[in-house]
Amino acid sequence: MAEPPHPLPTPPSPPFPKSGDALLVVDVQNDFLPGGSLAVPAGEQVVSALNRYIARFIEADLPVFATRDWHPPDHCSFAQKGGPWPPHCVAGTPGAAFAPALDLPPGTIVVSKADTAEQDAYSGFQGTDLADRLRAQGVRRLFIGGLATDYCVLNTVQDALAAGFAVVLLTDAIRPVDVKPGDGDRALAAMAEAGAVPAAQEGG
Ligand SMILES: [Zn+2]
Repeated sequence: MAEPPHPLPTPPSPPFPKSGDALLVVDVQNDFLPGGSLAVPAGEQVVSALNRYIARFIEADLPVFATRDWHPPDHCSFAQKGGPWPPHCVAGTPGAAFAPALDLPPGTIVVSKADTAEQDAYSGFQGTDLADRLRAQGVRRLFIGGLATDYCVLNTVQDALAAGFAVVLLTDAIRPVDVKPGDGDRALAAMAEAGAVPAAQEGG
């Protein structure tokens, strides 16, 4: 694999999760993985990384949340409706299902977003009760990974910080679309600037 022109420094290992922490897995759905209708390059690489974090949270008996795009067939983000994307993550279809290799535990709290034709939502907080559900569980800090760095991860992280949650950004568990080269790196910089703390497991 080619080195990026300006490699970013490897972030430190994430802290071990403790009371008040939750893991938030963003949109790890089949349509965003290789073979899907809106595949993120190397998107499958987030699955094994996320599984290691999921195991830590299960071991610590801490909550795991997962957001998903959950669109009607005539969703406004789809090209035939004038939107920017091919049809993807239509509610109830295999493309909208979580990646089969993702080890989400039985108690995972699933948050569906952009589930009406008129509204899109890159952020898991937009038009959902995610913030309330996190607060109901006593969550104060989120460990966030998933797809894609420059869209739903970026917007979810920004909204989490704006809602008063601390954020550990799991940089080994995210991948960008990079519609424009550098979008992913710019998103990383924007999230760090907003107060997210980047972290990655060694070798991740
Ligand atoms: Zn979507």
